Amino acid sequence: MKIRLAADLQSDSIVDGEGIRTVIWTQGCPHNCLGCHNPGTHDFDGGELVSVDDVIEELKALKNQDGITLSGGDPVCQSEACLPICKAAHEMGLNVWCYTGYTYEAMLRNPKHYNLLKEIDVLVDGKFVLQEKSYDLYFKGSKNQRIIDVQKSLSEQRIVLVSKYVEEKTCSNDYEKPSYLFV
Ligand code: SF4
Repeated sequence: MKIRLAADLQSDSIVDGEGIRTVIWTQGCPHNCLGCHNPGTHDFDGGELVSVDDVIEELKALKNQDGITLSGGDPVCQSEACLPICKAAHEMGLNVWCYTGYTYEAMLRNPKHYNLLKEIDVLVDGKFVLQEKSYDLYFKGSKNQRIIDVQKSLSEQRIVLVSKYVEEKTCSNDYEKPSYLFV
């Protein structure tokens, strides 16, 4: 099986979810959000087709990662190819975050998306909305997006947000540069 990727795997990220993560940049997105940070990932014929087995082998070779993050592009558009990667990540002890322009509710209604959802730990859902953009949010670009604890949400049949990321960041507004910093 192949997956279309926009870029090489990116290890050691600290901005694409909690902890130290390896990001899988999928290629192809239908959402066309105004102000998208990554328009080069929209074309479904762009990027490069890569073997899913090769992606898994590459993950196995990495050290000191807490999890993987499916990003893009919209990884949910390649749910079937992402599924074995998520399963392998879990077998390696890595947790799985996923960014998507779809909502959690919409994913529940699509059997392929639902299958992927069952292998995701944290879903950051919804389109990027420029009018709701903020730099004071944890791990998301606009206020409408939700950081969802997927396994709890599935078992309780309601949307359960990751509580520590519901509030806005508390340090950015009154941050003062320490005097020992020169830049
Ligand atoms: S879902 Fe993400 S990648 Fe797709 S258009 Fe929106 S911001 Fe860009």
